[in-house]
Amino acid sequence: MIPGARLIILGRQGAGKGTQCVRLSRHYVVPHISTGDMLRAAVREGTELGLLAKKIMEEGGLVGDDIMIGLVDERLAKPDADSRGYILDGFPRTVAQAQALDALTVAKPINIAIDLDVPREIVRERLSARRVCRDCGTNYTADGDEPSPWICDVCGGDVQQRADDTPDAVDRRLDLYEEQTAPLIEYFSSRGALTVVNGVGHPDHVFKRLTDAIEARR
Ligand code: ADP
Repeated sequence: MIPGARLIILGRQGAGKGTQCVRLSRHYVVPHISTGDMLRAAVREGTELGLLAKKIMEEGGLVGDDIMIGLVDERLAKPDADSRGYILDGFPRTVAQAQALDALTVAKPINIAIDLDVPREIVRERLSARRVCRDCGTNYTADGDEPSPWICDVCGGDVQQRADDTPDAVDRRLDLYEEQTAPLIEYFSSRGALTVVNGVGHPDHVFKRLTDAIEARR
């Protein structure tokens, strides 16, 4: 990637954004900025933000735009993101957030927004089987035959179901995606900044499609 590239990854919950963004971040050596990870860290640390976000997240709601915009503003101003660029995962999630991001990035605009496209029925299945290491965030898939307790292969942490991966919270999150986040696809596409990448298939194949799409924009 061009040093200093700035990328947004959109896509339904469970489309594989987290997994692919970690790989893209290593491949291109730019920071992966996940607002979900930032909020989960705040919850674990019990900060003021964490206390506020915990209930909203468990119910599958969205944290307020002003709070999120402030959080991202602060993160993008750090030297790594400012100099090398970033991969933004989970932000923007509403039109108000996208407009705020435009204002924050006037001097250094976003190069490309990718819609990692996976149909709703497929992500519902993926999310109900998803298990995550509480410590390092590695994702696993439950197949009904998992050890208890389940220990992470990567770091030895506890592998558990996320509180917002329960069926009710998953449906609420997917509805909110259609209402609040799907309009961003049109928002970026109308200015020619959007590329749609098929997110169905083996993660290695999806990764290849993503890097091809990014290279095509260089
Ligand atoms: P997912 O996309 O699978 O819901 P994330 O890890 O991206 O998972 O986000 C988890 C939760 O954190 C969201 O359901 C929401 O409550 C909160 N969150 C993350 N990013 C944002 C954002 N940009 N605006 C509002 N809430 C957010």
